[in-house]
Amino acid sequence: MQFYNTLTRKKEIFLPINPKEVRMYSCGPTVYDYAHIGNLRAYVFTDILCRTLRYDGLKLKQIMNITDVGHLTSDADSGEDKMTKGLLREGKELTLKNMRELAEFYAESFKKDLHLLNVKMPSGMYFASDYIKEDVDLIKRLEEKGYTYKISDGIYFDISKMPDYGILRGGIAKREESKNRIAENPEKKNPEDFVLWKFDDKIGFDLELGKGFPGWHIECSAMSMHFLGEQFDIHTGGIDHISIHHTNEIAQSECATGKKPSVRFWMHNEHVDFGGVKMAKSDRNFFKLGSIVEKGIAPLAYRFWLLMAHYRTKMNFNYSALEGAETALKRLYGLYLGLGNDIGHVHKEYQNKFKEYIEDDLDTPRALTLLWDVVKDENMSDKDKKATILDFDKVLGLGFENIKEAKRISIPENILKLANEREQARKDKDFKKSDKLRDKINSMGYDIKDTPQGSKILKN
Ligand code: AMP
Ligand code: ZN
Repeated sequence: MQFYNTLTRKKEIFLPINPKEVRMYSCGPTVYDYAHIGNLRAYVFTDILCRTLRYDGLKLKQIMNITDVGHLTSDADSGEDKMTKGLLREGKELTLKNMRELAEFYAESFKKDLHLLNVKMPSGMYFASDYIKEDVDLIKRLEEKGYTYKISDGIYFDISKMPDYGILRGGIAKREESKNRIAENPEKKNPEDFVLWKFDDKIGFDLELGKGFPGWHIECSAMSMHFLGEQFDIHTGGIDHISIHHTNEIAQSECATGKKPSVRFWMHNEHVDFGGVKMAKSDRNFFKLGSIVEKGIAPLAYRFWLLMAHYRTKMNFNYSALEGAETALKRLYGLYLGLGNDIGHVHKEYQNKFKEYIEDDLDTPRALTLLWDVVKDENMSDKDKKATILDFDKVLGLGFENIKEAKRISIPENILKLANEREQARKDKDFKKSDKLRDKINSMGYDIKDTPQGSKILKN
């Protein structure tokens, strides 16, 4: 198995530090707003990675944080606190309790999105605000080793104390570039010094470092170390995290422990753009998964669309491309359903090819082409095709297994007609009509549920 490692800027053979268990940390969402479909690419990518490792027979521990504290609107530690921004937007009083409630609301919505995209839940998903003690302990470790200094608005990390600071983004040359992008704080010793603990006398945590918040970067160092140890195998995130967030994580973790590298493989997904610009919550040029569902498009069509490109290729979102992906996916579902009920044997040659593609830095576009080859292969029996598709789907996660279950219930014609009318009403954004039709369907003993494969009719 080989993956592209951002740290070394090349594909490398992957071998876990401990052969018994791969340890992986994935930067989770900042929960001051809904996740957008760009964010969700980061988790579909990670899901494919996790499924590939498991497909290869490896045991995996994957930890994800939920950022509910400390992330400022600029990745470079300037601007306002994102959670505070969320509370103000929703007209809520600035208290730690309200902040937690806001976080829980958006974290729930995030989990629903993951479910709709068939993304398997990590082994553990934890709120950063439950790990403040771990942050403080790590800051103290850095303090003892002389890496920190205090100014009027917080405790900072002094990057000049770390000779290889910035290694993840390509070293010194790249450093000069990103320096210019960072807002000056005249009290900082170096422009790129970043905050470990930010003072805030309004709603901060009242602790020995002073009333305030941990910086955003420290949570990922502290939580990954707490759950996975001081050196682990893989760390994931979007490419926007390379130059600041992950660069600073490396600085904190490696300076505190003295162990290098803290992470063997740094893996990053490219962005989803819209109209040529990165989709971003803070710029509000984004689509939620819910908008796709409202248009009557199956959420898994979005997963399928993502898999059509390699995770390190930038993608430009538009609805006609997504609809094209949905048509192709439905065609695959239809062909799959036509294969009958029996499940035969996985075709070894195809399976070897599939492994070769997916284990070559998660080449999903080639894996999908192979899936079509299997479906169209005239020399294979239907039951072996079925077994092979289900085998590939352990990694692709396109929901073929559940298609079978949906077919078992036969839905009466009149209910199907009402369901189609409701679908059309939703497409036309006539939600009053669609709700009425749903009530009518309910009163006739059936219900409609939005699932990863699209809306499904169920018997009550
Ligand atoms: P955030 O909620 O902003 O902390 O981001 C959650 C994850 O989404 C991170 O791994 C980001 O790197 C990733 N991300 C943010 N914007 C995009 C985008 N437009 N396309 C792909 N990934 C993104
Ligand atoms: Zn992180």
